[in-house]
Amino acid sequence: MVSVPLLPREIRLHSQSNELELVWSDDIKSRLSGALLRKACHCADCLSTGERNQVEEDALLIRNVVGAGHYGIQIIFSDGHDRGIYPWLYLRELGQV
Ligand SMILES: [Zn+2]
Repeated sequence: MVSVPLLPREIRLHSQSNELELVWSDDIKSRLSGALLRKACHCADCLSTGERNQVEEDALLIRNVVGAGHYGIQIIFSDGHDRGIYPWLYLRELGQV
């Protein structure tokens, strides 16, 4: 179980390796690849069509990360897909192996 509230202290986008790094308030670090994040998108489109499981390699680059208030972040991918909002807790869970 993860204690609440849990927020990232830092968010870094590593363009070279196509990874998003988060440093959490409890000093745990998560490194999430663009591929993992794109396939984990749970916007209405991805969930209803299963599109996220068939994305092309070139659709998996993280273009930009935008804050979505206290809730989490919005990630924009190289294929233009930008509908996914990733809540903090979801990102934390994705980062746990
Ligand atoms: Zn999506």
